[in-house]
Amino acid sequence: MPYEGEFASYRSVRRIVEAERVQKLLNRARVFRGASRQTPLAPKQDLDVVADLPVFVLAIDGSYAEVDVRIGYPGAKVGYVTVASVLLDLDRVSRLDESRPIDPREFRKTEQAETIDSALPGSNVVTINQKSACSSFRQEVYEIFHDIILDDVDRVRLLTTYEELLQRKPASRGQECPYRESHGCTAEIVVPRGVSDCPQCKRPVFSTDALRIHERFRDLGTNGEAFGLVMQVWERILLIHFLRCFERQNLLGRMGRLAFFVDGPLGVFGPPAWLSAAISAELKRLNAIVRAETGNDLVIVGVEKSGNFVTHFEEIDRTENPGEQRFCPRSYMLLTDQYIKERITCSDSDKRYGQDTYFGRKFFYKTSGGAQIVGTIPFLTDEQDTLRHDDISIYPRFGTLCSLLDKLASSRYVNSVTPLIAAHAHAAIPLHLGTKVLQRLATALMGDR
Ligand SMILES: [Zn+2]
Repeated sequence: MPYEGEFASYRSVRRIVEAERVQKLLNRARVFRGASRQTPLAPKQDLDVVADLPVFVLAIDGSYAEVDVRIGYPGAKVGYVTVASVLLDLDRVSRLDESRPIDPREFRKTEQAETIDSALPGSNVVTINQKSACSSFRQEVYEIFHDIILDDVDRVRLLTTYEELLQRKPASRGQECPYRESHGCTAEIVVPRGVSDCPQCKRPVFSTDALRIHERFRDLGTNGEAFGLVMQVWERILLIHFLRCFERQNLLGRMGRLAFFVDGPLGVFGPPAWLSAAISAELKRLNAIVRAETGNDLVIVGVEKSGNFVTHFEEIDRTENPGEQRFCPRSYMLLTDQYIKERITCSDSDKRYGQDTYFGRKFFYKTSGGAQIVGTIPFLTDEQDTLRHDDISIYPRFGTLCSLLDKLASSRYVNSVTPLIAAHAHAAIPLHLGTKVLQRLATALMGDR
């Protein structure tokens, strides 16, 4: 998440750009030279409107903040990480829609929210049985995973879902013992489930140490990066957690009635990036069951509000005539590897874009109301796991997704979708509403249409 208001002032930016060394570097830098050699920009408009849409949307969105705390040690900080999952009943939203403008109080009644919120040690905060801020942080991350139970009936811990994904981590390469920095332990370890001991230094190792978020933890200063990584991992594991929960309750056959919205791209970045391949494999396994039972795929989308892809979409949508745009309503582009490398990230790598980090692929969509949506659709089969061509026929839910986005694109916020705004509202204001989203959803899904 960007640090708003931390942009350098215009004057200092200009001073830097004008500096001789910077000029020399820019002269050597590759500049985008128009579309002549590049993959043509080709928004498509062949989507049919899908009428039979899911009736529920489960949206997942997190936020984090770092706050100073007064505990007698200077510079002590605590990270506050929240992840909200909000369930929206689209039938009720539609009924409200007929009487626009929507009364926000009425709108709230269409959503049910569940928030995970947690406080994590930051710099200079050492918990009672630990010796450093970093080991306190590691232990708290583990315990929060252990303590989170989202469903009173199911009673499965978030840790269990995480450890299932951990089993999919390739064991060929070990990782550094988490005590390498602090105690000089040189062991290369493969982190198992639960709490174990490092074979060399005999200190405790938590299964969540495999996320390696602690490698970005700093004993002094700010830990926005580490807290951001915890949030990112929670958001994505939660998606799998819900799906596995539905699997145990034999609800995967009802997934045609539910769509999942995740804030941000469908990928895992930084030290926990290995999770991406594990999540992808698990999504494919779950989707195979959904396909067998319903004849169709899961409906899942990640929506990003900022970053290079969002900027690029804005740029290519502009034309020389003010007010005229290149993408007409309901047009889309499924981005290929070649397009991304030539136009967005500038790379000549043979490795597929996002190979190690993404479990889905990017698309641009202009909704019927004109909102620009930058989304990711997951790879739910091996056939879908490609960036080579832009044939949407291998993603049978793409049309459903776009029709849903038409319906949910917010009229109040630019290029954003209502369920994620609702989830964000809950994530941003940490409060535990006590309603058990999963239980209510299970009941609703079992009900007849
Ligand atoms: Zn060790």
